[in-house]
Amino acid sequence: MQDSNRFILFAMFILIVVLAVIFLLTPSTDSHPAFKRASIENVLVIDPGHGGEDGGAVTRDGVKESEINLQIALRMAEICDFCGIPYKMTRTSEEINYPEELKSTAKRKRYDQDKRLDLIESVENAVLISIHQNKFTSSSPRGPQAFFSANDGSKELAILVQEKMNTVLYPQNRRIAVQIPDSIYLMNSLDCVAVLAECGFLSNPVEGAALREDGYQSKVALCLVSSYCVFCDSRQRYL
Ligand SMILES: [Zn+2]
Repeated sequence: MQDSNRFILFAMFILIVVLAVIFLLTPSTDSHPAFKRASIENVLVIDPGHGGEDGGAVTRDGVKESEINLQIALRMAEICDFCGIPYKMTRTSEEINYPEELKSTAKRKRYDQDKRLDLIESVENAVLISIHQNKFTSSSPRGPQAFFSANDGSKELAILVQEKMNTVLYPQNRRIAVQIPDSIYLMNSLDCVAVLAECGFLSNPVEGAALREDGYQSKVALCLVSSYCVFCDSRQRYL
């Protein structure tokens, strides 16, 4: 064998040894610090708006917004259970126990909001989706709308929610995601990503009827949970 061939073989041998050593010494992907940072596990906080003495908007035939909000929230919880998505709910029934000493509805409502606030803030990496239904004096307005808090990430999630609800629930919808008004206490008191979804108008006969149907509620729930999943996935990529 010629000297030059021997040298090439030796060089290849050294190269293989070096590559093997690098391979063995490189930490596996899941123990790499960058991967650990990117594997932050968010928790979806599902907030069925209103409840207890606060029914929210009420339909002409007496159905409360709080009941529809809870039904959609429970469907979201079912989807999360099925898919293994960590979540918490701010309430799971229409009943809310208020302290005896709080007599006025305003004080009781504030107590409930503060309790929800404490719960949400106790959840690490919480992402809030608050569920509501709209109502207007005229019956013509229709279409879901997403609102976002001023916190980082809220607008991105609200845009995803809006797009999904438009596509699935009402493709003619021209509403866009907008920042929540200052008057909404819970949404403006949180530090986490927070979106409030007005899923539709109870005052619109077509949408109001749909919002009470099982199948339609499941579609709404799917829109909200799937938007949350897309949001978490895109955030992990840019951590
Ligand atoms: Zn509401």
